[in-house]
Amino acid sequence: MVQIHAVPAFKDNYIWVLAQDGRAAAVDPGESLPVERFLQESGLELTAILATHHHGDHVGGVPELFAHWGCPVFGPANETIPDIRHPLVEGDRITVPGFDLSFSVLDIPAHTAGHIAFVDSGRDPLTFCGDTLFACGCGRLFEGTARQMSESLAKLATLDGATRVYCGHEYTLANIQFAQAVEPGNPRLAERKAREEAKRARGEPTLPSTIGEEIATNPFLRCAQPEVIASAERHAGRRLADEVEVFAEIRAWKNNF
Ligand SMILES: [Zn+2]
Repeated sequence: MVQIHAVPAFKDNYIWVLAQDGRAAAVDPGESLPVERFLQESGLELTAILATHHHGDHVGGVPELFAHWGCPVFGPANETIPDIRHPLVEGDRITVPGFDLSFSVLDIPAHTAGHIAFVDSGRDPLTFCGDTLFACGCGRLFEGTARQMSESLAKLATLDGATRVYCGHEYTLANIQFAQAVEPGNPRLAERKAREEAKRARGEPTLPSTIGEEIATNPFLRCAQPEVIASAERHAGRRLADEVEVFAEIRAWKNNF
């Protein structure tokens, strides 16, 4: 049974560490020290590193971890990340060394141009989706367009509703606050807010979420809902032509929220 641990890094990043039978794989290790500390405390040997995109807070620890452990590094083919020996694009499939676990790869550009997601569609489905789909939010558009991000999110939204969503940051409560401004009439949001606040009060991560929960509460996946369209149009002060325009408007709104 693979266990997945949240190793906090920086202010609000999570490095996800998979562990099974004394072995570990680190997803998006933005710094090496917290990972090394966790491995030591848990008696684990690092057998793989997975990276979703090139930002320093996700890959800054790769060179040191690679130098120490010499393990395979998997990551996007279309970005420059040091020590990647296994460049990946959509359609690729990897088996994580040391684990009976395999992932398929999705291209989900827009936060960065080559951003990928790792997806396990097996009995206990999950995805590591970096800074693209957040719990109740989505990443900023640093290297892509609103249309690209809409398409990347739509791709993730086609995954089974039970798929657990392991994203890169603890942004959930702020995201819910914004979601409630966009869609105050969504009862699932109020219910989610109470549940996630309770987790934070206990010092627990709000993550993982699930695809089903995101479809029900995440405004960036709900750009066809009448209340989301109405809020976006009110904020824009004009009619918006389609879902992509609605998405672009609420993404820009969130930047200044
Ligand atoms: Zn990022």
